[in-house]
Amino acid sequence: SLTLGIETSCDETGIALYHSEKGLIAHTLYSQIKLHAEYGGVVPELASRDHIRKITPLIQETLKKGQVSAKDITGIAYTAGPGLMGALLSGASVARSLAFAWQIPAIAIHHMEGHLLAPMLEETQPEFPFVCLLVSGGHTMIIRVDGIGRYKLLGDTLDDAAGEAFDKTAKMLGLGYPGGPEVSKLALQGQTDRYKFPRPMVDRPGLDMSFSGLKTFTLNTWLKAKESGDDSEQTKADICRAFEVAVADTLSIKCKRALEQEGLNRLVVSGGVSANREIRAKLDALMAKRKGSAFYPRLEFCTDNGAMIAYAGSKRLDAGQSSDLNFACQPRWDLESLEPIDPIEVA
Ligand code: ATP
Ligand code: MG
Ligand code: FE
Repeated sequence: SLTLGIETSCDETGIALYHSEKGLIAHTLYSQIKLHAEYGGVVPELASRDHIRKITPLIQETLKKGQVSAKDITGIAYTAGPGLMGALLSGASVARSLAFAWQIPAIAIHHMEGHLLAPMLEETQPEFPFVCLLVSGGHTMIIRVDGIGRYKLLGDTLDDAAGEAFDKTAKMLGLGYPGGPEVSKLALQGQTDRYKFPRPMVDRPGLDMSFSGLKTFTLNTWLKAKESGDDSEQTKADICRAFEVAVADTLSIKCKRALEQEGLNRLVVSGGVSANREIRAKLDALMAKRKGSAFYPRLEFCTDNGAMIAYAGSKRLDAGQSSDLNFACQPRWDLESLEPIDPIEVA
């Protein structure tokens, strides 16, 4: 089977073709970062309009890249939530129209399932069950994964997502958007020991997290430095470093706790923040010490992309699932409510 994947949940138009035997055939991505940068965040109206403009040319480009014709496509997977309603609808309408015209099934995919399964696009894939840390712009979740569609939420953030905390930190320090890559770039020049930031909620039992306090701590540290006349690049870098190390430590402590609780030794880390070098280093060290293994997507598949949607869709379509053509997009959508696929079908 050959699945066309369409991702439009936020500010990236991602298209991909996934073949059930040959794997990923081709993928293309158009990021609207430049469009939204001057506003310091995603403007929903502009996002929808830009998706509509880009989606068809990108599908054509992807077909050309993969050297396949539209006739070869046997199913279409599209992101149906969570995300911005207008952005979701742009992708969903195109996906459903094509499925109707080509008389093939369409499947609605949960964006976070896409992120969660993105490491499956790599050469060495984790076996089920595993613990997954999903860290993105809008989510920070620790999940037990027993198969595709078998998700149990173990921990969640009580306030900001990890990526959101990176983005807000960047904004406070006057760095660019999106903030994650900017903060982590500047952190490379930072000293580790100048500031010590808190590790939120690690002294409390359980797997929930909180990042808004860390953000406030960052702001206060920066204001205090500025008050004392020190608003140098070095100080900014030191703050970025302290912030990043605090996030990485916190995530690592929570992941360790989750693995112990579940009696598992495979950790999957995905979502935009999983591109972070410091976080990867901390989690690799944790898993090396436990003689377990950590799995990540390649860097370009950490953030939003069509490949992860095509993969999730391919697995579900091959298991005989499909969605009604009038399936409603869901800006909010519970990951635990998804339908499992037969574990036998999970290759
Ligand atoms: P969600 O998936 O929760 O709906 P999203 O799709 O906007 O949100 P992603 O595309 O997965 O999120 O990731 C974007 C986030 O990842 C942004 O918050 C960005 O700052 C962050 N990010 C990207 N690269 C890095 C990095 N190297 N270090 C830290 N954060 C990063
Ligand atoms: Mg994005
Ligand atoms: Fe995402």
